Amino acid sequence: MTDYYRVAAFPRSSRDADKVLVGKQHAYLEGVRATVCGFGLVQMRRFEQLPFSASPPSERCLLCDRVVRAASH
Ligand SMILES: [Zn+2]
Repeated sequence: MTDYYRVAAFPRSSRDADKVLVGKQHAYLEGVRATVCGFGLVQMRRFEQLPFSASPPSERCLLCDRVVRAASH
């Protein structure tokens, strides 16, 4: 059920608005403390309304993408 995965990303700079999504997009599950690939979510911005499955493949973290796709099969 890949729809459960949400998007998280590192802030590129302190000027980044919370709503602006830049850089690699990582996947995480609600209620956990780290992304699929192991980054701590505390230092990342979470996009709780944004399903990872809706991210453009070119913007996805490769490791997260691989794990999420493996989980869907
Ligand atoms: Zn990742």
